[in-house]
Amino acid sequence: MLYRPYGKTGYSVSALGMGCMRLPQIVRGDKAQVDKEKAIELIRYAAAQGVTYFDTAFGYHGGDSEAVLGEALDDGSRQRVKIATKQPFRAMETQDTIRRNLEKTLVKLRTDHIDMYLIHNVQIDEWETIKRRRIIEEYEQFKAEGLIRGIGFSYHGKFPGFDEVISYYDWDMCQIQQNFLDTENEATVEGIRRAGKKGCALVIMEPLRGGALATPPPAVQAIYDEYPVKRAAVEWAFRYLADFPEISAILSGVTTVEQLREDVEIFSRPDMVPGCLTEDEREILLRARSQYLSVVSIPCTGCAYCLPCPNGVHIPRIFSLYNDGKMFGTFTQSQRGYFLSARTGNDASRCVACGECEEKCPQHIPIIEQLKASHEILRGWVE
Ligand code: SF4
Ligand code: SF4
Repeated sequence: MLYRPYGKTGYSVSALGMGCMRLPQIVRGDKAQVDKEKAIELIRYAAAQGVTYFDTAFGYHGGDSEAVLGEALDDGSRQRVKIATKQPFRAMETQDTIRRNLEKTLVKLRTDHIDMYLIHNVQIDEWETIKRRRIIEEYEQFKAEGLIRGIGFSYHGKFPGFDEVISYYDWDMCQIQQNFLDTENEATVEGIRRAGKKGCALVIMEPLRGGALATPPPAVQAIYDEYPVKRAAVEWAFRYLADFPEISAILSGVTTVEQLREDVEIFSRPDMVPGCLTEDEREILLRARSQYLSVVSIPCTGCAYCLPCPNGVHIPRIFSLYNDGKMFGTFTQSQRGYFLSARTGNDASRCVACGECEEKCPQHIPIIEQLKASHEILRGWVE
């Protein structure tokens, strides 16, 4: 495992961080819960393989992610790893609630301190209120009491908003979405450079765009195949990010031990270091990006912030089915998947256009319109 400096904190973390947002689940009908046994096995495997950075959040898996992570690391691993977790502004109803939420998190994580505590998914339209409510000062108090060791924020959105937030305070870390498709989207490469200049630890989420970059369409695979060194699609995506010296850790939201094993192998290669990309490799990635952008039409990362829909529409699932159909050039499998979603009452026909989901989407997707378009293409399967 390769390790990288974590901003100005003085310590290093594994370049591969484990994201605990997509832990294995048991699905019964339209209900899903964390498969605790498999999730604990996965987390312990990661720690045994040298992963020292674990990312979770107050709300992941309905609050169960922190608890499962805490239980998994309670085998003696806690002292060897760093935990980052996040509290969303919407859960900070009063100043007392902020502290109570942190206390609950500490209990669930079975620890007396959080290594990095983030304001989760800072929305630029809430930023003035976050400042006025003195949320950062609350966090500073937690830090003074030793309950947290660092203060950070996570952000989905455009560069100007990111720039405003990062410039406001001497953050210990920040977490942004980046991958080779989002170079001009989200906080952008400029955001990466800005975080680096401030000496702020930078952690990357969605390096595989919700997993989509792991299974390239034939046209993208053909581009990778041209390169003399054979690499899995996942490695190309990680390699793009490993090239940036400003990045401390890249989060992978693995669900299976097989995925994790592959990630660990990639992040143990001696050349996965800043400056690793050759000019030829940059060219391959640029061509792959152009090809992707010509086929992935809904930029959904599967983050599920738009859920729950009051009418049960499973928005990310529908967009994933639509994008899969586009990428693979056939909607047959997607139509069948959509048929099964309709059976459990999660299809787009249930949408009443209330707009609740659109307000929560960090990718600013016109969800209602895209659901209608997806429904037209995906419906019609009969069995
Ligand atoms: S707009 Fe449609 S999909 Fe979105 S929350 Fe409302 S009913 Fe659900
Ligand atoms: S539609 Fe938006 S909020 Fe919902 S899963 Fe996709 S990217 Fe996330």
